[in-house]
Amino acid sequence: MKELVLSPEVVEAVESIYNRLEDLYSQVAEKLKFSCKGCPDNCCDSYFQHHTYLEWAYLHIGLKQLDPEKQSELMLRARNYVEKVKEAEAADKRPQVMCPLNEDGLCMLYKHRLLVCRTHGVPATIKRPDGQSLAFPGCFRCQAIVEKKYFHFSDAPKVERTPFLQQLARLENELLHNERAKYPKVKMTIAEMIIAGPPVLDID
Ligand code: SF4
Ligand code: SF4
Repeated sequence: MKELVLSPEVVEAVESIYNRLEDLYSQVAEKLKFSCKGCPDNCCDSYFQHHTYLEWAYLHIGLKQLDPEKQSELMLRARNYVEKVKEAEAADKRPQVMCPLNEDGLCMLYKHRLLVCRTHGVPATIKRPDGQSLAFPGCFRCQAIVEKKYFHFSDAPKVERTPFLQQLARLENELLHNERAKYPKVKMTIAEMIIAGPPVLDID
């Protein structure tokens, strides 16, 4: 078993996917005249799970650059996050807990944040492997803009997330010697990724 370490080439490939996604996000936001500026809310308390070893390892590149004290503090925050999520789930509620990486309203690891963090805000669509399409209406502020400007949600500009997810999945599969399917599925919050440390796998 060994830690999944991303080579500089893989890091560059991940960042290139993120950059292209950010370009598309900006184009959609521009068309909608939408921005996060002045927002009274902070959507880093939205509950998301993440599904790739690749992004998990990429997040840990950023985490390792933090000083040891900050890392210890983050570990406590992450454990606290997991406890609060359990409490919400026990009460049959969707968890709404601030991400441990959010400090004073800002992301401590902005450069290393995951794909879902990068697409939150504007309307988005995704096509699942079974062919089913899912639509995300965007955050509450963006939904208000869409409702005012468009008769139907389908008329509004959107970020199609599928190609970016596919590119990440392909890259991850290559990294795992085209044997991604033999490894357990990933379904983790950022807090769980922090607690678990970087991914450790049975790889050559
Ligand atoms: S990783 Fe950063 S952007 Fe993503 S939810 Fe956490 S604080 Fe927010
Ligand atoms: S995505 Fe929406 S809810 Fe989140 S900070 Fe931006 S404007 Fe606010």
